[in-house]
Amino acid sequence: MDKLVFATNNPHKLEEVRAILGSDVEVLSLRDIGCAADIPETADTLEGNALLKARFVASRYGVDCFADDTGLEVAALDGAPGVYSARFAGPGCTPADNVRKLLGLMQDAGDRSARFRTVVALIRGGKEYCFEGMVGGTIARTPAGCGGFGYDPVFVPEGYDRTFAELPPAEKNRISHRARAVAKLADFLRGEE
Ligand code: IMP
Repeated sequence: MDKLVFATNNPHKLEEVRAILGSDVEVLSLRDIGCAADIPETADTLEGNALLKARFVASRYGVDCFADDTGLEVAALDGAPGVYSARFAGPGCTPADNVRKLLGLMQDAGDRSARFRTVVALIRGGKEYCFEGMVGGTIARTPAGCGGFGYDPVFVPEGYDRTFAELPPAEKNRISHRARAVAKLADFLRGEE
């Protein structure tokens, strides 16, 4: 079976990605290859960070590898928080701090449209590839729901009247930015066979 390292230890991401890639690919985590390093995420684009992470693992461990990076891009904030989504409210902030800051900045915003964007970078046989997935939606005025993580309680995907945090996980995973990027990776890997 084909083996690929996914540069993460996040169990939710691993489960989601393994389900999409199916049984043709064995997906290993960083823990599985004994990598406990603090991988740099110092680029100022999602593509840059995904590539930094994938290159770090591929070069140090001599493996084929992919990595992801995600941002919430809000139209009224000129695409912020974007690549800085995880630390929008400052160093050491919690997801709730980020949501509070976002809602505060958007109090008077007429346009509440936003999108999640994920870039997956793959390094395979020494070559680099990027795959992008997006889901559009709007930012709710107040948080709702307790599923998911991050900005899920305030993100209402297009075509729905509930936030990501209110949707069943399987439904979110079917339409999410990450699922769409990983589906493109899966198509690419199948095409290689
Ligand atoms: P990462 O690149 O997957 O670590 O994501 C960076 C940040 O974007 C996270 O810390 C979250 O704040 C946010 N984020 C990423 N994916 C999601 C999602 O599916 N729902 C809500 N927030 C997300």
